[in-house]
Amino acid sequence: MQTIPLFIDNKPVEGIGKSFDNFNPATGEKTHRVTSASQEDFEKAIESAKKGFKVWSSMSPTERGRILHRTSMLLREKNEELASLECQDTGKPIREAIAVDVISGADCLEYYAGLAPALHGEHVNLGGDFAYTKREPLGICAGIGAWNYPIQIACWKAAPALACGNVMIFKPAELTPLTAYKLAEVFKEAGMPDGVFNVIQGDAEVGKMMTAHPAIAKVSITGEVGTGKKVMAASSNTLKHVTLELGGKSPIVIFEDADLDEAVNGALLGNFYTQGEICSNGTRVFVHENIREEFLEKLVARTKELKVGDPTDPKTQLGALINENHFDKVMHYISEGKKEAELILGGNQKEVAGCEGGFFVEPTIFLCDSDDLKIVKEEIFGPVMSVLTFQSEEEVVDRANDTPFGLAAGVYTQNIRKAHRVVGNLQAGMCWINTYNINPVEIPFGGYKQSGIGRENGLAAIEHYSQLKTVYVAMNDLGDPFS
Ligand code: NDP
Repeated sequence: MQTIPLFIDNKPVEGIGKSFDNFNPATGEKTHRVTSASQEDFEKAIESAKKGFKVWSSMSPTERGRILHRTSMLLREKNEELASLECQDTGKPIREAIAVDVISGADCLEYYAGLAPALHGEHVNLGGDFAYTKREPLGICAGIGAWNYPIQIACWKAAPALACGNVMIFKPAELTPLTAYKLAEVFKEAGMPDGVFNVIQGDAEVGKMMTAHPAIAKVSITGEVGTGKKVMAASSNTLKHVTLELGGKSPIVIFEDADLDEAVNGALLGNFYTQGEICSNGTRVFVHENIREEFLEKLVARTKELKVGDPTDPKTQLGALINENHFDKVMHYISEGKKEAELILGGNQKEVAGCEGGFFVEPTIFLCDSDDLKIVKEEIFGPVMSVLTFQSEEEVVDRANDTPFGLAAGVYTQNIRKAHRVVGNLQAGMCWINTYNINPVEIPFGGYKQSGIGRENGLAAIEHYSQLKTVYVAMNDLGDPFS
């Protein structure tokens, strides 16, 4: 069985930490051994990153952009190979991995490659004297990934960080170690200098090394709210910058005048894509009471057509959950839901021929008559949708906002004023009008409230991976200040 090493200084490195097994979620088969980083290995990554930073930060932004651009082109060339690794590592359907995961990472690198040379400061005329500002990198950034979109997350963190002249040490989730390593190889092939993108492997203990280390200037993590809080607390000891991309329990609000077929499309995408393992999913679907029956009829008919199956089958639309622990968590929520709400569809484990060792769940829909149910309040991170009804705009906005999360929200209506008014009142970082879960890299993404701090993508991410230096230039003598 192949062992996945660490990737430090543009080389595979056999770490001296304990190693662990990696599994295919769809079959339960062991696929690789993975070397976990010890503190000593991590120090090597830090030393390499320090050297890499000197080289990378002194290159011209155009040269940096060129390497990022080459990386994006290589990722596109290798899309099928990388997507099939991602499918194997995450259990998500191959059709999704090919359409989204690698391509979205490549888009991000391409976007920031173009932006790198365009970053600039300001000139401030002070009447004789003047000042200018410069955007400078922070230094060594730590990227910590979740297991649902491993290569996309690695690219979404690395691309803006590197475009600004930082270097990155990246740790993928322990459950999905494969494609971050591959990404490091692709960076190298694209001409990345040594030490600019190092990959270390391991669990939360390795993540803690990153948040504790004084040489790390910034931590960007994608994960659960509880993890984000720990990362922020640990980072405060050395006052690191943090970007936190955390969980959610987002609302989709469907008004009476909505295009119902489109609203059903949004609800399906926002609940069952990647078998529900998406942070921004709209798992609280608020439907106006007058259209409840019609909406449910269409929703159920369309959901029944979804194919849960072997992720490697191009026809499969929902794959395997990431592992047994997560499956148990999702099934626990479903059994709670059966007690407290009306089960409309699904609610069972699904047996998949040829994938007996995997954990599959039917797309599940509950009709809920209260916002206080466990399944309506907590993030499930599986294919479980809660449908609720409402009567008035004011009521639904209050209910949609009644959550500690604030990652995303969607509104369906044909009334343009109502759409903008409602979105204006929703407490969420990412809002969609008449669509859902579309996240091109050109627009900022991130949460309000406990769903996060900072933004990924768009021009906004530049703010989070650079610091402003102000330079005052005296053209006139100061003279004796005390005379
Ligand atoms: P976790 O919070 O369990 O883990 C996220 C990462 O943090 C993993 O690499 C994990 O290591 C690491 N980690 C865990 N504890 C610590 C710690 N104390 N210090 C430093 N690092 C630590 O999240 P999951 O991987 O289970 O991902 C699912 C969660 O991610 C969901 O809540 C989802 O909503 C959220 N998410 C948010 C997104 C966003 O953009 N807002 C996008 C995607 C997911 P390891 O797992 O290897 O032990």
